[in-house]
This record gives sequence, C-alpha cells and structure tokens, in this order.
Amino acid sequence: MNNTNEMSVSFTSNAQNEGFARMVVAAFITGTNPTLEEVSDVKTAVSEAVTNSIIHGYGDDDGKVIINASVTGRKIYLEIIDYGKGIEDIKKAMEPMYTTRPDEERSGMGFSFMEAFMDKIEVASKPGAGTTVKMWKEIGTAGRQYE
Ligand code: ATP
Ligand code: MG
Repeated sequence: MNNTNEMSVSFTSNAQNEGFARMVVAAFITGTNPTLEEVSDVKTAVSEAVTNSIIHGYGDDDGKVIINASVTGRKIYLEIIDYGKGIEDIKKAMEPMYTTRPDEERSGMGFSFMEAFMDKIEVASKPGAGTTVKMWKEIGTAGRQYE
C-alpha cells in the first residue's frame, strides 16, 4: 500500500460537462487542504484543458474526455485525455495568443492559463489520435519564499 489516492472519470464531450469536470476535480483535491485561490487555480486549469478537448479535439463530433487524477500528500497530478483530432504543432499551439479558432471568440490563452495556474504542464498529441495534457501542482507552496 502507498499513500497515493487516485480517481478517474470519463464523460461525453458535451460543453455542459465542463462544470462537472471542475467540480469533480475540486472535490477530489479537498484532502490537500487547498486555499480557495488554489482550488480556483486548479479548476481554471481543468476547465481550459477540458474545453480544449471538447471544442478543438472533438468539434462537432461526440467523443469521450477522460480525467485521471492523483494526490500524494499535497501533490496533485492531473491528466486530461481526448481521442480527438490532435495537435499538429504543439510548440506553436502553446504560444500565448495562438488559436486556430479566432472566429469563435477564442483568445488563444488556454495553455498560458494552465501554465500560470499549475506548477508544470506537459502536452502530448498526435494528429488523428488525440491529446493528453499532464499537469502538476503542489498545494501550500504559494508565497513560500516570504515565510
Ligand atoms: P482560448 O483557450 O483562449 O479560448 P484556444 O483554445 O484557441 O483559445 P489554447 O487553449 O491556448 O487557445 O489552445 C491553442 C490551440 O491549440 C487551439 O486553438 C487548438 O488549435 C489547439 N488545441 C488545444 N487543445 C487541443 C486539443 N485537445 N485537441 C486539438 N487541438 C487542441
Ligand atoms: Mg483553449
């Protein structure tokens, strides 16, 4: 036995499930004793990744979005997975203000928010196969340099 707690959820790529994804992850990380701001940061990062899977990954198609999450002590690890269209150029996609859907009020800031609100993110993607976003955040480290 180890002290890692894990959960997985899978849901349809329906825009209304974005709120569900935020809530289920927020509930799961409660044991890390996060501040309201830390919960809000994680929820924002999850929203951005899940919205990307729904809008860009699947578009008008229906597919499944999977969230795998684990908590070890106060360390949170999240994976958001889709089997949608994938990303041609990951480096370019992660640049601030880069979007392939400027028509739809997209600002191209999703990956920038994920990077800002989490400690680390990694993106793996293959055109035609799908995208996995991995994110890490340790709770309780904000402002540590001032203590
Ligand atoms: P915003 O998030 O500000 O509404 P955006 O979604 O276009 O705009 P990002 O979230 O930074 O901006 O994503 C940048 C680009 O990366 C997207 O425009 C899209 O082309 C691509 N992308 C991101 N996630 C996925 C995904 N899961 N599947 C396919 N393409 C993706
Ligand atoms: Mg986005």
